[in-house]
Amino acid sequence: MMHKLLFKYGVRLRNPSLYDYLSFLKKSDSWSHKRLIAYQTKKCKEFLEFAYKYSSFYKTTFDDLNFKPSEFKDLEQMKLLPTISKTALIRYNSSIHSDYPFKKVFPALTSGTTGESLEFLKNEEWDSSNRAAMFRGYSWYGVHPADKNGYLWGYNIDPKQALRIKWLDRLQNRFRIFSYNTKEIEYFAKNLKGAGYLHGYSSMIYEVAKLVNRSGLKIDHKLKMIKGTSEMIFDAYQEEVTKAFGLKILSEYGSAESGVIAFECPEGNMHIAMENVIVEEEDGEILVTNLLSKSFPIIRYRLGDMIELADKDFKCSCGRAHPVILNIKGRVGVKIIGKSQEFPGRMIYNVIKNLSIEHGIILNYQARQHMKGVVDLYIEQNEENSEGILEKELKKYFKDEIDFNIFYGKNLHNMEEKLNDFITTIG
Ligand SMILES: [Zn+2]
Repeated sequence: MMHKLLFKYGVRLRNPSLYDYLSFLKKSDSWSHKRLIAYQTKKCKEFLEFAYKYSSFYKTTFDDLNFKPSEFKDLEQMKLLPTISKTALIRYNSSIHSDYPFKKVFPALTSGTTGESLEFLKNEEWDSSNRAAMFRGYSWYGVHPADKNGYLWGYNIDPKQALRIKWLDRLQNRFRIFSYNTKEIEYFAKNLKGAGYLHGYSSMIYEVAKLVNRSGLKIDHKLKMIKGTSEMIFDAYQEEVTKAFGLKILSEYGSAESGVIAFECPEGNMHIAMENVIVEEEDGEILVTNLLSKSFPIIRYRLGDMIELADKDFKCSCGRAHPVILNIKGRVGVKIIGKSQEFPGRMIYNVIKNLSIEHGIILNYQARQHMKGVVDLYIEQNEENSEGILEKELKKYFKDEIDFNIFYGKNLHNMEEKLNDFITTIG
């Protein structure tokens, strides 16, 4: 009770428009596809007009193309506009920022893959609508954001920061692990008693589940939702987490620049939050337009993920008409370099996935390539689990193009950042 009041007070202060967005999103949750498209089209026109008026970058871009946002009437017209990459968002940063006098903005910072970071300002409505989309997802599971929650983000937090983080966590009814050791994980797991939800990197949720299962720790919990972000969720994770908590990890898909793109419904499908974002797929790659990003317009952004959208006629049994992302298939442009040919970075994942489907062998892995034609494959499980089938399957897909060095029984997680399934320093 106290926490809900505190939460409400905090929200009013920081995100005054959040509750309005949330109640709108709860209504539009049951809209027909046609109505959602009409809404999106209208919002998109307003947004493009805004960008044209207040962002010098988009004014020049639209003028060069002779694109008139005032004449926008069909989402197909988005295809007339160029896409934008993170590099461009960094390079043209100041001219992309709009010069509209917003009442309130928040600074945001994300790191790029090449080490460059992207800084931008988020107007309050953008931040609030994004949180609202997240909270709508929570409501599908009967979770209130102010419910007590366990949070698994990076461990090993700088002691100087720890006190401040602990205080912020208290305000948000949140607890976390500060350094990775058995005692802390155990303490964390026990703390889940009375928590409504658990969220964070799925690989870390998995680590906690493993400890719970191995130590035979019985947790009398009432978790309603376990949410994974930012990482792929492997079958082995789901198996372990379900065993530990009786729930599987659901995914929330998004990024700092794009906001929440999709949220998994109780039927297991990731529905696009189309009131906030337009998702296009071009050659397997996702393009995102964030309709509320007025302070720093994000239009047809190359987020860098390969995705698979559900068929247009696909209907989720939950009844929502919001389109579904079936699968996030890894990063764009990542390649495994063989001796004479290249393979998509996703190929090892496919082999491992096949092992699970066809042979019931579940392996956790991380692949690393530092040399042409050679890949080091680290496997968490022990060798007897794979019975030489892994080697055979790899051979089937990669022929003699790649020499695999397979290391079994390895600890994959450094507990500091998210776990990448394929790391390459070449190509
Ligand atoms: Zn659904």
